[in-house]
Amino acid sequence: MKKIAILGSTGSIGTQSLDVVRHHEDLQVVAISAGKNVSLLEQQAREFHPDLVAIWDEQDAADLRVKLSDLKIRVVSGMEGMIELATHPDADIVVTAIVGMIGIRPTLEAIKAGKDIALANKETLVTAGHLVMPLAREKGVQILPVDSEHCAIFQCLQGSAHKDIYKLLITASGGPFRGKKRADLEGVTVKQALAHPNWSMGAKITIDSATLVNKGLEVMEARWLFDVDLDDIQVVVQPKSIIHSMVEYRDGAVIAQLAPPDMRMAIQYALKYPERCDMDLPHLDFTQLREIVFDVPDYDTFRGLPMAIEAGKTGGSMPVVFNAANEWANAAFLREQIQFLDIYDRIADCMARHTVIGNPDLETILATEQEVYAYLNSRA
Ligand code: NDP
Repeated sequence: MKKIAILGSTGSIGTQSLDVVRHHEDLQVVAISAGKNVSLLEQQAREFHPDLVAIWDEQDAADLRVKLSDLKIRVVSGMEGMIELATHPDADIVVTAIVGMIGIRPTLEAIKAGKDIALANKETLVTAGHLVMPLAREKGVQILPVDSEHCAIFQCLQGSAHKDIYKLLITASGGPFRGKKRADLEGVTVKQALAHPNWSMGAKITIDSATLVNKGLEVMEARWLFDVDLDDIQVVVQPKSIIHSMVEYRDGAVIAQLAPPDMRMAIQYALKYPERCDMDLPHLDFTQLREIVFDVPDYDTFRGLPMAIEAGKTGGSMPVVFNAANEWANAAFLREQIQFLDIYDRIADCMARHTVIGNPDLETILATEQEVYAYLNSRA
């Protein structure tokens, strides 16, 4: 029996993780958590009978304690609660399905406690990859990627030597605005930006996909996960999201992973690794699939991607600034406080005024995030 704790069980990845658990009798949920969705968390607790439930706000936790008083479930709150979940003594693996940099601390604590990580929260590696990966190696824990592109690369690397990697090829759908130019993007609405052509995901990552910031975050994440130079990672546009990513080897062979777009495949792969299982997932039908089209990213229009690469190459605290400015701007766009193109301007502004701190520790990372937030709030 593999025991699982899920940080962010009420979100897109969290609910799909629970769906994977439903299909496997040898997977058991021991702890779940949410930000504020009390009713779904209660529903999940009643279905999966974890022994620990965490919710951010203590008032929500108090409500939940009353609602779940007929069950033997402990309810905790705040960052302490998230850490308690991430270090649950019975958990073998922690799914980091929480959104944003708030995921860093519980992930580090889970690794310190020797838990394997099914990593969805990309902000953790983007901003703290230099802390997370060495710690994971030291503790002998596996970081199993849930992001579909990284899961694909992880699969393409099975059985091959790291020294033989020539290049990682990360595919991108291009999002809802593929083919548009800067002038077309002036005044686009939140609803338009949330209409992703292939994937149904949480709001933050969907906006990040529209700006191509998401692809930039994925490039930075891949660099840490697979220990390759940023120059050896190429983004390839593949609009239908059939090829999830590829690895090119030094002999010129390219190995790709293909499947219909469904995150449950990547989640299941991480939770059951190295086993492959049947889960009623859709299969590709090559009698219907007649072509796979490729394109190059439009770096001039979708500045999120080149700015992310620049932040990654600068290193130190710059990826934190990139990420924090994006988190702020993404949320402000979702609240309709700024325009779509302002997201790029806010990120560029914060990067331009930042003095890089080399090799930041966790406190410096979190302080840098707060400085970026304070600056952007002051000029909002
Ligand atoms: P969602 O917004 O759908 O879900 C986020 C989850 O985090 C929810 O359970 C939410 O709870 C919880 N949460 C938010 N704030 C807090 C908080 N302060 N304390 C505790 N829990 C909190 O996001 P996604 O599932 O889309 O994405 C999660 C992560 O996975 C992101 O980092 C994303 O980049 C990554 N990812 C997502 C993919 C996808 O297909 N969705 C694909 C690849 C990566 P509540 O519901 O109560 O708000």
